[in-house]
Amino acid sequence: MSGTVVMKFGGTSVADAVRIKRAAARIVAKREAGFRVVAVLSARGKETDRLIADAFEVSPAPHPREMDMLLSTGERVSCALAAMAIHDMGHKVMSLTGSQAGIVTDTSHTKARILEVNPSLRIFKALDEGNIVLVAGFQGVSTAKDVTTLGRGGSDTTAVALAAAIDADVCEIYTDVAGVFNADPRIVPLARKLDVVSFDEMLEMSASGAGVLQLRSVEYARNHGVRIHCRSSFDDSEGTVVLSEADTTQTPVITAVTHSTGEARVSLIGLPNTPGIAGRVTTALADANVGVDMIIQNEPATTDTQAEVSFTVTREDMHTAVGALHPIAMEFGTELVTDETMGKVSIVGAGMKFHPGVAAKVFGTLGDAGINIHMISTSPIRISCVVPGDDVPDAVRALHAAFDLSAPATPSEATPA
Ligand code: ADP
Ligand code: ASP
Ligand code: MG
Repeated sequence: MSGTVVMKFGGTSVADAVRIKRAAARIVAKREAGFRVVAVLSARGKETDRLIADAFEVSPAPHPREMDMLLSTGERVSCALAAMAIHDMGHKVMSLTGSQAGIVTDTSHTKARILEVNPSLRIFKALDEGNIVLVAGFQGVSTAKDVTTLGRGGSDTTAVALAAAIDADVCEIYTDVAGVFNADPRIVPLARKLDVVSFDEMLEMSASGAGVLQLRSVEYARNHGVRIHCRSSFDDSEGTVVLSEADTTQTPVITAVTHSTGEARVSLIGLPNTPGIAGRVTTALADANVGVDMIIQNEPATTDTQAEVSFTVTREDMHTAVGALHPIAMEFGTELVTDETMGKVSIVGAGMKFHPGVAAKVFGTLGDAGINIHMISTSPIRISCVVPGDDVPDAVRALHAAFDLSAPATPSEATPA
């Protein structure tokens, strides 16, 4: 036996019968090459979107527990169908739900976190008996014994968590693009595929909208030392390997441009300028399980003046955020203003911390393109600008061109690590 591999197939890669059979053939080929194989499948095509729409047809605020019962079905369908196809190819195979696979999560329905994975529950035995094991992605069972789901894109995290638990050699993420690119290839056709990317950069990229790998999957892989290889499900080309910083040989100034369009901005206008207020605002949001991205507080120019706090959340979380802040707004007579049409464009690069002038170039480029920047946030290796949602594609293309990201990397673009 050569070793153990986890293979994850995304929604497009199992969208119809032909693609399920193709994924099945790929899984079988890996098994025939001598590997123990655990494959994680996503729901077919847009099935998760359809299930969400179904829920909202019967309820304006679907009960989170029942939402998870519903959403978890999509990936089960894919697994059962792929298992049938693999049986017909003459191989032993067993499909498992997330719960059967031993994936235990917290109780945050629709965005649960994996707490532990118990492969000795079923997976090891099934592998030892010669089975290919298929696991329904994006789901687990909570400590309260309810079915949970892991948030959009969560099958990536299922795959990485299983790879860590069974000590797989590699976690292969098969998707509809050839790997991780230096911009979303749907927006920038000349985007370049990255052969390797560091965990630090991939974390910033996923956090700022590069949905090709779910943020939590990258975090999990870094924390557990899992090797991720993100690659095309349509051909055999090498994709992108996510590596630890110590293993990367180059530190480009700018590695990628990322974006997201589903941003909402919430502003609290007229808050008391006293200690503890920012803490109360963020605690209210945390208690409602709303993840906040950018936060800006304006210090009033003179004493007596009231403070203003703005932050961004995903569009889906906006109503929850407003509901959570309502008591504070009532208490202080604060105005709550929302804008659901925002987007965000970011540049990420581990080398930017050594190169002054990157921010000036970003803001200048967006200014030249006539794009208004509403909010700015930075980390040592990322600069993000909140811009009007409609301007996002132009902003991405302008930055990709300004930083010469279409051309192949040259030594002058890269500095040794
Ligand atoms: P899957 O269904 O396989 O999980 P996703 O739709 O979640 O696939 O992720 C793949 C998509 O991510 C691509 O089709 C691409 O449009 C998008 N994407 C966004 N940013 C990037 C990027 N930097 N590199 C590659 N793909 C990206
Ligand atoms: N099916 C889920 C989604 O569409 C999970 C995934 O595909 O990773 O978000
Ligand atoms: Mg995905």
